[in-house]
Amino acid sequence: EFYLRNIEEKNKTLNAFLSVFDEEALAKADEIDAKIKAGTAKKLAGMVLGIKDLLCYKDHVSQAGSKILNGFESQFTATAVQRVIDEDAIIIGRQNCDEFGMGSTNENSAFGPCLNAVGENRVAGGSSGGSAVAVQADMCLASLGTDTGGSVRMPAGFCGLVGLKPTYTRVSRWGLIAYASSFDCIGPITKSVSDAAILLEVIAGKDENDSTVSRKEVPSYSNYQSEKKTFKIGYLKEAVESEGLQAEVKAATLAKLELLKAQGHQVEAVDFPLIKYFLPTYYTLTTAEASSNLSRFDGVRYGHRSAEATDLMSLYKKSRFEGFGKEVRKRIMLGTFVLSASYYDAYYTKAQKARRLIKEYTDNLLSEYDFLVCPTTPTTAYKLGEKTSDPLQMYLGDLFTVQANVVGLPAISVPNGLDNDGMPIGFQVMAGAFEEASLLAFAQELY
Ligand code: GLN
Repeated sequence: EFYLRNIEEKNKTLNAFLSVFDEEALAKADEIDAKIKAGTAKKLAGMVLGIKDLLCYKDHVSQAGSKILNGFESQFTATAVQRVIDEDAIIIGRQNCDEFGMGSTNENSAFGPCLNAVGENRVAGGSSGGSAVAVQADMCLASLGTDTGGSVRMPAGFCGLVGLKPTYTRVSRWGLIAYASSFDCIGPITKSVSDAAILLEVIAGKDENDSTVSRKEVPSYSNYQSEKKTFKIGYLKEAVESEGLQAEVKAATLAKLELLKAQGHQVEAVDFPLIKYFLPTYYTLTTAEASSNLSRFDGVRYGHRSAEATDLMSLYKKSRFEGFGKEVRKRIMLGTFVLSASYYDAYYTKAQKARRLIKEYTDNLLSEYDFLVCPTTPTTAYKLGEKTSDPLQMYLGDLFTVQANVVGLPAISVPNGLDNDGMPIGFQVMAGAFEEASLLAFAQELY
């Protein structure tokens, strides 16, 4: 009732929720209340969760923030969503996001932007903007978002929350509407590191519906105690010294590094000369994968079908033109171009090679350092519309977050103070593959 009241009061202006499952959630709450009284409640009893519009939930609408999926109701539930339900979480609604996860501000949603609850007319961050603002404004306790290039960490950073992107293959992608399959990860957005830990513990692990998921055992992230108390930490010199870094973000990051030193950690600057290839690699490969993944939306199988079609070809063209927003159409064209016969080697193959180099370089660093740290984003949340006309500026905001997805490693964003306008600043920590337990334990110390 508390969360529903807040939704009622705040959602009209913030636009974080696209649907609210009020009656269902209240009925479930009664059921769980009874279980608590009977002593049979499970791990997430009482946790009220929202889910990003990219996650399928049986008999509920999932539209990926897009018109092309108008009226689409899933016939099955995403594994991650089913697992939180099985542990007695309550799903309160589906949350606004950039169309198919393509964006950094939530302004690319077919349902209009979601607003940051702090500041005036500031973006929420994206693409899981609704999922972050819903937690920020107490419209639910936690959310499940998705992160292909920073979409959990970036809005968490912009909204003063914790956002965790697990190792690629740690969490099943079954029921996650695909953007770029070799990058996509489901991750929690929460107010505390311990909530992120318990959620990861529940959603991670093998799944017969997703053959790419790791069969590695899932540690008890919520009870993990690190034996090591001090760590060797590398910070990306190029990131902390980068030109586009907002002064307050730089100051807050340097202050955090000083604090870590004072706490006895070994903190060193590391060179990352490949940083200039992060964004080109990411945007070449993700648009390629997106152009292929999104070919299934043809106006025949599900979602929007054009009323103007005269033959099969015009049905495809018109349905896709009417259904997809501008950013998605742009990425489909870019991706189709880099995959086309005459350009495949020049772009797609080259980007695959760059991905490999970035991965090797990062893995090498992480064999020497326990963690790599940097700001989550170069700036704090800016005004709505400020970067929509300049896509390069917008893409630059993803500079620090895309690395973890390019190399498939876990990374977390934790709050690191406020800028002069009171907007939250994020601090990102990345760890080696399947090192979520120590990553979370370290993050717990940070925040
Ligand atoms: N902003 C990045 C993009 O637009 C990341 C999005 C995401 O992680 N889904 O692709």
